[in-house]
Amino acid sequence: MNCIFCKIINGQIPAYKVYEDEKVLAFLDITQTTKGHTLVVPKKHVKNVYEMDEQSMIAVHSVIPKLAKAINEAFSPIGLNVLNNNDAPLQSVFHYHVHLIPRYEDDEFKINMPNNIDKLTKDQFVSAVESIQKALRNK
Ligand code: AMP
Ligand code: ZN
Repeated sequence: MNCIFCKIINGQIPAYKVYEDEKVLAFLDITQTTKGHTLVVPKKHVKNVYEMDEQSMIAVHSVIPKLAKAINEAFSPIGLNVLNNNDAPLQSVFHYHVHLIPRYEDDEFKINMPNNIDKLTKDQFVSAVESIQKALRNK
């Protein structure tokens, strides 16, 4: 399998590792969107959130609080974004990973979350809930 994160996990290519346990590896993202930008990955190859099993999810996400606190202590950011991209074109590496992106005054990373509340009726909210709940019944 030609997966760059599996190669890092197997030691075939180098990475700036910051944390490792039996199931999880964390290393610096090579692009360093901001100082301390870190990726947290399961050692088991799983493509993305749609294919994640609960145990791998628990393993990855249970180390995030301590990594977040360590990054906070190391670099004193003004905050932290915890971000995960799934499926192309959002996702570029198809091995599940969580971005920890510390934020600083005047950094160049922007997240734009539009507020559409004025464009939606109560019926549209209810309909959205029903659609999700209908799909959940098959899970
Ligand atoms: P995404 O777009 O969410 O799939 O993010 C993939 C991330 O992996 C990008 O932010 C890349 O900078 C990062 N990346 C790709 N190759 C490497 C590598 N060899 N070492 C560290 N980070 C990498
Ligand atoms: Zn992989």
